[in-house]
Amino acid sequence: MPLNHTHDPAATSWLASANAAGGDFPLQNLPFAVFRRSGSAEPFRGGVAIGDQVLDLAALSRTEGLQGLAAQAARLCAQPVLNDFLALGSPAWQALRHALFALLHSTATSTTEALVRACLVPQSAVDYAVPTRIGDYTDFYTSIHHAHKVTQLVKPGEPITPNFQWLPIAYHGRASSIGVSGQTFRRPLGQAMAPGASAPVHGPCTRLDYELEIGVYIGPGNAQGEPVALEQAESHIFGVCLLNDWSARDIQFWEMAPLGPFLGKNFATTISPWIVTLEALAPYRLAWTPPAGAAQPLAYLDTASNRQAGALDISLEVWLDTAQRRASNDGLGCAPARLSRTSFKHQYWTVAQMVTHHTMGGCNLQSGDLLGSGTISGPGPAEAGAMIELTAGGRQPVTLAGGHGQPEQRAFLQDFDTVILTGWCEAPGRARIGFGECRGQVLPALNA
Ligand code: CA
Repeated sequence: MPLNHTHDPAATSWLASANAAGGDFPLQNLPFAVFRRSGSAEPFRGGVAIGDQVLDLAALSRTEGLQGLAAQAARLCAQPVLNDFLALGSPAWQALRHALFALLHSTATSTTEALVRACLVPQSAVDYAVPTRIGDYTDFYTSIHHAHKVTQLVKPGEPITPNFQWLPIAYHGRASSIGVSGQTFRRPLGQAMAPGASAPVHGPCTRLDYELEIGVYIGPGNAQGEPVALEQAESHIFGVCLLNDWSARDIQFWEMAPLGPFLGKNFATTISPWIVTLEALAPYRLAWTPPAGAAQPLAYLDTASNRQAGALDISLEVWLDTAQRRASNDGLGCAPARLSRTSFKHQYWTVAQMVTHHTMGGCNLQSGDLLGSGTISGPGPAEAGAMIELTAGGRQPVTLAGGHGQPEQRAFLQDFDTVILTGWCEAPGRARIGFGECRGQVLPALNA
């Protein structure tokens, strides 16, 4: 996708909070969510983030602010889910983005500014919802660094499975338990087989983990039996969010042979409310190449454009807040502890290759479907996207930095722990855009 005037790093808005250095939501971002005023019974509807505000697209649709294709697109965003808007495809997405950019730009007239100001709601005063009706959710496994580390924990000395370098591995997940940031869930119950035991035990998960991922929303779908060629794959992608694939490791490793994850993965998945569009991500593309010595992809997973700019440089962090940290009200403050930092640029497969491989057998993707990237781990030890890697399977607990009183350690997650994912993009000579946050909390197990 070529860069255009909406990527101009010098562009500013008449809304001062959009121009704050280091903010997630400058004029160049314009991500989409579904929201309503906190504590209200209003219908959920689509909105776009600008600075510290949400631009209410339902309210804007009732004005004369938009015309033509942009107005048609905004009317579809006035619904409680964005599926119909996502189905429109990139010409409509671009028409709306460019129209909103003009309305919010510092050169807009005072009449325009007044019209748009009447449609703003502070982000501090809204609740979000899952932004699409997710028909199907698929979770990939596309970080070679994660694959290497987990394989060494589970089967020391063995190589990763030979299919990894030939295809983007995935399993079909569960859409019903996906929740938006702020989600809480009970520690799952399940079966686990202890090392050396002859029978499994049933009870609360003892090895609860998170997985740092991005989520990919499908725009226009494909007809069943008609695969999406790699050259067209990105026209089927609307945008990207942050995603936490909560994982019960003890349950997962007992149950997943030979058919794959089940209860270890299906109890909760948390997503960030904001979908950052592929157009907004255009300045942060990187070349994609298989690692030195790895197989070259089969022809259907290889194009010049995917090699030239298939990768995405999205910086990502994982933070942990705990009951002890929240209780340390000594006036010094006790922020969450950072657990890791990495980038999506290290991922083995691109989002386009994931879409193409998913459809190659004839499977139809539908508008609003969600793909998880799989755990995102970089090459360094501080770049691990899951606790199982950070703690070597729980054997080397991490000490949480910066707390007060007794230092806390974690081998796996404890009750009332909150995991916060953040993400942003920056590049030389380009604006910085952010994803907001993806926050979820573990509650005690049922009857625990
Ligand atoms: Ca996962």
